[in-house]
Amino acid sequence: MIIHNAHFYIDGSFDNSIKAIKVENGLISQLLENVPAQLDAQAIDLNGGFAYPGFIDCHTHSISGGIYTLGVDLEACPNIATLKAKISNHAKQQPHSALIFAWNFDENSLAEKRFPTQLEIDELCPDQLLLLRRVDGHSCMLSSNARAMITAMKSKDVILTGAENDLVTNWFHTQLDDETVMKAYQSAAKVAMKGGFTTVHTMIGDAEMSIDHFKMLQKRLDELPIEYILYPQSFNIEAALEAGSPRIGGCILADGSVGSHTAALSQPYQDKATRGVLYKTDDFWKEFITKAHENKLQVAVHCIGDMAIKQINDVYLELQKANPQDLRHQLIHCELCSDELISQIKASQAVPVMQSAFDLYWGNPKGLYEQRLGSARAKQMNRFASLINSGIPVCGSSDWYVTPMNIAMSVHALIHHHNPLERISAQEAIDTYTKNSARLSHDEMRLGRLQPGFQADLSVLNADLTKPFDYQAVRTQYIVKKGMQVYAYTPNCS
Ligand SMILES: [Zn+2]
Ligand SMILES: [Zn+2]
Repeated sequence: MIIHNAHFYIDGSFDNSIKAIKVENGLISQLLENVPAQLDAQAIDLNGGFAYPGFIDCHTHSISGGIYTLGVDLEACPNIATLKAKISNHAKQQPHSALIFAWNFDENSLAEKRFPTQLEIDELCPDQLLLLRRVDGHSCMLSSNARAMITAMKSKDVILTGAENDLVTNWFHTQLDDETVMKAYQSAAKVAMKGGFTTVHTMIGDAEMSIDHFKMLQKRLDELPIEYILYPQSFNIEAALEAGSPRIGGCILADGSVGSHTAALSQPYQDKATRGVLYKTDDFWKEFITKAHENKLQVAVHCIGDMAIKQINDVYLELQKANPQDLRHQLIHCELCSDELISQIKASQAVPVMQSAFDLYWGNPKGLYEQRLGSARAKQMNRFASLINSGIPVCGSSDWYVTPMNIAMSVHALIHHHNPLERISAQEAIDTYTKNSARLSHDEMRLGRLQPGFQADLSVLNADLTKPFDYQAVRTQYIVKKGMQVYAYTPNCS
């Protein structure tokens, strides 16, 4: 089987004489300098596109994202009246859905600069249960009828954060049946392919002890057009081992988020007299991570503020000294890093799994980081260049639904970082989403390169990302997975 008529990105450039790729059993068997004269019906014509090794997104909440694609997107909502109209119109169009999800809410985009009131929420779809989540996923509110059903909820606050926020989200997830979960993943896979990805890491579980839906999904992965790398997102090591998972965790939380003033900082926030919160004690993490490490599980923990990153990295470092293993433990987000912390991460051999678009969204002068942290600390956020230049194999991700799965936007964000000192080259940005990301799941000999022996996964764009480009004009033309075309761009169609 031959893939042809494209520019092929091979070992860091399009500057090569390769005209076609030969595929056998889903693997690249040969790079060809000439297109064979006889092409059979199975040959894939890439229409002159730019073919990269399949891009990998290393951290997504695809179950939530998939569900939300079936819900109401509140991005850039200008005021409370529009928000109310959007939610109630959507709910009316879905009379058979008991649950209504509204997401991407950001009070800063509203003229009123506030969350809606409980009363405003309650009148929108009184016969359905409504969950409204903030853009960062770290705070939410829900309709009174939904609150009444979650008996474990103690808080009287209208806006829920921390453990109450998790409780609510997970309660909504437990209400989903297997078919809805699969429908959400099918929808998520379409979003991933449209954004240019062939492999996506995703977490499933309540970030406590349940890995609900994990085993079902594990068995049905072949139904999905792209590859999902699964994380049992919980503290339940026995369940992870029993399911045969080589890893555990995800957004199991060491702290909260900068937007919600809950990321744990060594110095107080600029705009509020707090240092955020460490959600668990040092002893808790030591016990959990040690047990996982001894069982040879790769661990992934959400840590955003410097205190949280240090708390988790200290455990990785100690374990790596006492009992070295090639597990590639993950620091998810790893946003606020001093130089000292960077050298400690180098020593622990942990892998930062970072989100390029966070800087694009929040790193602008007077943006969220500067408001919350002041300008000096805002410059210590998302330190891609400093980490990479220290020899740390940073991995790229979207944290989707938090930011879009969009490879062109991600590469753009990295080469145009608001802090010029943290910019990286286009080649390094592409590596972040291919070679480095393949390494995270110990797949560096299978994924992330167009070379014989590697899986025939290709992301075909209409642009050369190593030359200046407008990310809003870049689109994914084709996705090839294991030598099969699983996506093709169609105009006027999502
Ligand atoms: Zn997280
Ligand atoms: Zn996350």
